[in-house]
Amino acid sequence: MTQQAEYAIAVIGGATAGAEAAGIFSQHGILSVVFEQNDRPYGKIEDGLPKWHVALRRKEYATIDRNLTQPYVHFVPRTQVGRDLDLRELVDDWGFHAVVLTNGAWRDRTLSIEGAEAYVGRGLVYQNPFIYWFNHYHEQSYDGEHYEILDDTIVVGGGLASIDVVKVIQLELALRALRERGIEAELVELETKGIPKVLARHDLNWEELGIQGCTLFYRRRAEDMPLVSVPEGASEAQRTKVERGRARVLEKAMTKYLFRVKTQHAPVGLLVEDEHLVGLKFARTQVEGGRVQLTDETVQVRGSMVISSIGSIPERLEGIQMRGELYDFQDWDLGHLADFPTLFSAGNVVTGKGNIVDSRKHARHVAGYMTEQYLALSEGVKKLEPLTPEARQSILKRVRDHQERVGYDGSYRDWIEAVTPPDQI
Ligand SMILES: Cc1cc2nc3c(=O)[nH]c(=O)nc-3n(C[C@H](O)[C@H](O)[C@H](O)COP(=O)(O)OP(=O)(O)OC[C@H]3O[C@@H](n4cnc5c(N)ncnc54)[C@H](O)[C@@H]3O)c2cc1C
Repeated sequence: MTQQAEYAIAVIGGATAGAEAAGIFSQHGILSVVFEQNDRPYGKIEDGLPKWHVALRRKEYATIDRNLTQPYVHFVPRTQVGRDLDLRELVDDWGFHAVVLTNGAWRDRTLSIEGAEAYVGRGLVYQNPFIYWFNHYHEQSYDGEHYEILDDTIVVGGGLASIDVVKVIQLELALRALRERGIEAELVELETKGIPKVLARHDLNWEELGIQGCTLFYRRRAEDMPLVSVPEGASEAQRTKVERGRARVLEKAMTKYLFRVKTQHAPVGLLVEDEHLVGLKFARTQVEGGRVQLTDETVQVRGSMVISSIGSIPERLEGIQMRGELYDFQDWDLGHLADFPTLFSAGNVVTGKGNIVDSRKHARHVAGYMTEQYLALSEGVKKLEPLTPEARQSILKRVRDHQERVGYDGSYRDWIEAVTPPDQI
């Protein structure tokens, strides 16, 4: 029989970072309660990473499942902190020694053109809901927002996620054109081999399909695109090498997926007709010493739709002070907030990197600090009072109440099986 846990930590968000932290707490015999807003705890692996990453998804799901089924880990799905549970109450009243925020970054950074928000759904689309739709629309039970893929779309971005947005459009356009010719191609094959190779197999080429394709607009130069990261402390020569690598990655993607790129274009104005966004005005830019400067030269570009993919930021959470678009962390290493001395944060909500490995590494770092320094368990010096049996019972009672509220009977595997759509990829 497992020993009774002496310490308890709440984890907010059960995906890559949250599950990793819970797994580490389990190894130290710490009770953890993982609150997850969705039915399934896979976060951006399920709803961000495009669905053609079949093997990676499966592997990451398995890692999350493994962590969340460890001893001392209690899962509370369909429970959003800030809506179903108050953060302050969780931190102060439940009896947890600490709380770790692993809620990721789910809000799109707003396109900074005055008045743009009025056109969401009328020509303007943001990346997060768009990719969510792409990853789920094939499921019979999907009842969320629907997007139509239109030729000649403008994508504003420059990071890896924006390349995925462009790819979604190009791949969907190609699949549709092939379907119209009676050819059922596979998304995964098209993504892996690239559009020209698959078309060639059917004696077709892009021009014949009559598709214009979409255009990615980026404020900086191709060699600035963060498609390959510059190692910390890189020399000038290493930096130049990375920059060349970035341009090569972009070239390769353009060859495989046939989209266009306009670099050194910053969006500055809206083109509106009949209360609908029909394009953007861009200012040409100069990039010097890493700084972007707008020039007086502007161009108007029409497009069938505009997708903004310029970064994801954390959702506002009641009680948490913001500094601009981000949480006002006092300490960006451990994700400390001035008003919550027992709260830590890990993963994308702090790193903002949008990378699985970075989220996991950061969660290990924070959870390691929490167990070894904050609770000082590894030294056998218990800095904080252990749980009394009453306090443990009280936490577990509240956990059960929340689980019952959503119909979760305590078996993670059964729950996942029940809430997984039969046609998920
Ligand atoms: C288009 C796209 C492509 C990508 N491609 C790659 C790639 O190729 N390689 C790569 O390494 N990374 C990629 N990423 C990034 C990667 O998927 C994420 O960075 C990583 O999965 C983030 O993990 P996380 O645990 O920090 O956050 P998330 O996965 O965002 O997890 C946060 C969890 O918290 C839950 N949550 C949020 N708020 C609350 C709340 N208030 N209460 C309860 N629960 C809450 C969410 O539902 C979610 O499950 C991509 C991302 C996108 C968008």
